[in-house]
Amino acid sequence: MSDEAARLLADAARGLADHLRFHQALGIRELPVKQDYLAGPDAALRRLETTIAGCTRCKLSGGRTTIVFGSGDPGTRLVLIGEGPGEEEDRQGKPFVGRAGQLLTKMLESVGITRDEVYICNIVKCRPPGNRNPEPDEIGACAPFLEGQLAAIRPGVIGALGTFAAQTLLRTREPISRLRGRLHPYGQAVLVPTFHPAFLLRNPGPEYRKQAWDDLKLMRREYDRVRGAGAG
Ligand code: URA
Repeated sequence: MSDEAARLLADAARGLADHLRFHQALGIRELPVKQDYLAGPDAALRRLETTIAGCTRCKLSGGRTTIVFGSGDPGTRLVLIGEGPGEEEDRQGKPFVGRAGQLLTKMLESVGITRDEVYICNIVKCRPPGNRNPEPDEIGACAPFLEGQLAAIRPGVIGALGTFAAQTLLRTREPISRLRGRLHPYGQAVLVPTFHPAFLLRNPGPEYRKQAWDDLKLMRREYDRVRGAGAG
């Protein structure tokens, strides 16, 4: 550690100690801590997953088989977010393992990214009946879990898969055709919207495939940038 870094750290520790003494003088004995500040992303995610177990915060809980929390590398810089589990995901308890998931794996591999090195989750963690869009109360009930996942992982790049995820995360009604193809600031991260793989399965023409490919290249470029690896 350089002298300057050691000095800054010592200043920060002194400041924190002063702050705590001030609270103590006011008679405050406990401070509510909202984040797992000291836990790594892995432990923070595991703790979050235990808090969602058996969740009945919204009506989706009535129809689900399994809560699909999310999977992948908690230490990644790239998080992909879909809409909600489908039938196969509900059965297996893992995101994007059905046909759309297989296409997603191929899309990632086409730009040299493996599923193991990213983290994948959804806006809602339980399957909406008949694969309908999640409703506002369901999104609201599940939002703290997605926020917790993003706070634990602190990705540099977020891939929003499909209209629903992109519109929900960006709080907009703009169509995916206008949102995709460019970067959107998202807290400390950048968000890259692209088509949902299920949409690409339903619309297999070259036009959408080319646009999705462009989005993936953009995602790859940003992923390289935030890892400090240079564009590739
Ligand atoms: N579609 C999604 O949006 N998420 C999944 O996990 C699977 C299909």
